[in-house]
Parts: sequence; structure tokens; C-alpha cells
Amino acid sequence: MDTVDLLVFNGTLVTMDDKRRVIEDAGVAIKGSRIVAVGARRDIVRRYMARQTIDARGKIIIPGLINGHTHIPMTLFRGLADDLDLQDWLTKYIFPAEAKNVSEEFVRAGTRLGLAEMIRGGTTTYCDMYYFEDAIADETAKAGVRGVLGETVIDFPVADNKTWEEAMAYVERFVKKWKGHELITPAIAPHAPYTVSEAHLKEVREFSDRTGAPIVTHVSETKREVDDSIKAKNASPVEYLRRIGFLNHRVIAAHVVWPAGNDIDTLERAGVGVVHNPQSNMKLASGVAPVPRMMKEGVRLGLGTDGAASNNDLSMWEEMDTVAKLHKVFTGDPKVISAQQAFELATIRSAQALHMENEIGSIESGKRADLVLVAQDALNQLPLYNIYSHLVYATKTSDVQTVIINGRVVMRDRRLLTLDEAAIKQGAGVFRAQVIKSLAGGQSK
Ligand SMILES: [Zn+2]
Repeated sequence: MDTVDLLVFNGTLVTMDDKRRVIEDAGVAIKGSRIVAVGARRDIVRRYMARQTIDARGKIIIPGLINGHTHIPMTLFRGLADDLDLQDWLTKYIFPAEAKNVSEEFVRAGTRLGLAEMIRGGTTTYCDMYYFEDAIADETAKAGVRGVLGETVIDFPVADNKTWEEAMAYVERFVKKWKGHELITPAIAPHAPYTVSEAHLKEVREFSDRTGAPIVTHVSETKREVDDSIKAKNASPVEYLRRIGFLNHRVIAAHVVWPAGNDIDTLERAGVGVVHNPQSNMKLASGVAPVPRMMKEGVRLGLGTDGAASNNDLSMWEEMDTVAKLHKVFTGDPKVISAQQAFELATIRSAQALHMENEIGSIESGKRADLVLVAQDALNQLPLYNIYSHLVYATKTSDVQTVIINGRVVMRDRRLLTLDEAAIKQGAGVFRAQVIKSLAGGQSK
């Protein structure tokens, strides 16, 4: 008999492996940070002895959900300004609020709030872009959550860096510090092709080539962005990025709501990861991304919430439900995205969009042990006929019971083990008061 660190058994296992196996009465053996065996419970318990066991009887075991696009400290701006289009929302409310409030302490408090919300919702990996990303990485590692974390670089002075040179020096230190960490993948995040110059975008790409750091950015989020780009550069944002040699398999592009011409083909060929944020796109009325077409054409496509100021939560359950329904109503075809495909978008496909499908996104031997136990007997879930339908259309954030990331239990029976929930709630109140004070006498709603 082999000794492992953790055995999870008795539940219904949704593997999301290549065969999309669903195993009843399953067992998963975990050694250190990795899964070493997956199968029927009786085989697993015969082969392995464990220091710690988790009985998943009556529960569904799923791969940890992957939130492909966030700005995690913006949880502290949740509900600050709603019901506006992207340009007004950004320039009249968010940029001024950020200029007056974002400090390292703000970022840390907002990150802890977002991490707690994500763990509670079964999210085990997220891709972020914000300021003071080194502090975000520190909080994320302490909470035991996995992250692709991009320090934002942009062509105007921001909270943590006043010049481009300062920002690039920050990123240099940041990437060097976190590279090789088990949980944190440090990245560079040029805000968008309309807020970062061509010369600077090229510099970002060179930096990424030299360090191997992923590039996280926003592309073609609104029709106006695409129209402006065509007017100014005679090319869509995607085409422009291709022309300047920016696109490759390390790029993660959020949104792509308005691909033009051959953009989808370009993204597929370059191996760019694209992250669809249906609720944020709906709330800001940015439009509906051609997701069914991108999936058909083989684009590495995942799912994200975007920041909590434009969503207004970090729930991947809501995002899965929305992605399936939005594209049905938009195309008039209820078959266009199935429940299983919606679940893929939040797991293995999001892993592909982050270029991490060899490490996460499914429950398979050799992969990182990122697992979530979900109840299947809440009133809103009864009765159960089809597991994917159950997960996508009926299950809620509150049905998540236990969360394991990198082999470590970070929530057990809904109790957070790595974060202090009471202190997080208190922090949110303190910063709420500060934000209100900072904006008083400025814009009125
Ligand atoms: Zn965003």
C-alpha cells in the first residue's frame, strides 16, 4: 500500500478529462500538491493509505473553477457606479475613484475580500490585472489560491507607478520574485491597445519573450474601440496587435466582443487565450461576443467574471448559467451552448485560455490537486437527472462545501481555513467609508 497525503472518496466525480468521464462512488488520491490516482473508490482505498481523508458521500467532486478575468481589489468598488456604458463608467467614476483610493492597503483588503468570495464559490484559480500586483500575489499565496497575476502597465500615471519606466522596473522585480512559485504565475498586463502605445506594447512583448511571463490584456471590448482603431490605424485591435508582432501563445485577451474580418482566425492561429465575460459585457451593454463561432474555430476560450465593479460578483456559477443562456437568446438556438460546454468553459477551457491545461482544469493523475466538493441535495438542486444540467443551471455558489487547492484544504464544510472572514468584512466597511469620503464634493450621481 502506498501512503498519500489526502484521499477524497465516496462522491460522484466529474473529471473533465478527455473522455469527460463521470465516476460514481469515486476516489481521488493526492500526494503533496498533485493528484496521483483517480478511479473507483474500492480500487483507490485498496491501493492507498492517507494521512487525511475527506468523505464526499452525497457530494459532487469537480475540478476547481477557473475565473479567467478579474481585477480583484475592485471588490471594494462593488456597486459604486452601475447602469452606465464602459466609457462613462471608466472615465467618470472608476478612474477618479481609483486615483483617490488605491493604495497598497486598499489592494490588500480588496484582494482578501475577493479571495474569500472566490473560495466560497469554488474558484481555485483566477487571472487578474491590477496595480500593486505584488501585494495581490502575497495575499493570494497566503490564502493558498492559484493565480495568474498581471501587473497593469498603462500610458498614464497610476496608483503604484507614475511613469512607464517605473512600471516596467516594478514588473521586472515582480516577475523575478514570483517566477517558479507553486501557486503564483506573475504576468505583465498592458491595459489595452488604446491606452498603451505601440512602442510600449512592443516592449511588453520583448519582456514576455525574455522572461516567459504571460501577457494579460483587454481587446475589442466595445464597438467604439474597434471603430476608433479602424479609423486611426486602419486595422481592428486584433489585426493591429498581429501587425506589430504582439500576439502569441503567451497572450491572454479579455473580452474580444467585436472581432472583425479575420480576427478569430488570427487569434486561433496565434494561440491567444480569449476570456469571455458575459455578465460584465451585458451590464455595460458592450455587446455579445461570438462565442459559439470562436469555440467552433478552436480558439482557446475561457470564462471570467471581470471585476466586481462591473459584474457585480465573482461567481463562476452565475457566469456558467449566463453564458449558456445569453447565447441561446442571442442566436435563437437553444442548442448553441450546452450545459456541458458551459461547464467546460469554467474548467478545462478556461485552463486552455490561461495556457495551463497541462496543470489544471480537470481531475486527472499528474495534475495539480485543485478540487471542489459541491452539495447535490439543496432544495434548489432536487431532484438530479443530469449532472451538467445540475451544475450549470441549478447549483449556486452557496452549494459549494469544501475546496482543495494545490493539495491543501482551504475551505472545509463552508468554513474558510486560510482567511479571517470577520476581519475581511470589517475591512470592507472601513474602505467603503473612505471611498465615500474621497468622492464627496466631486461628481454626483
Ligand atoms: Zn477587465
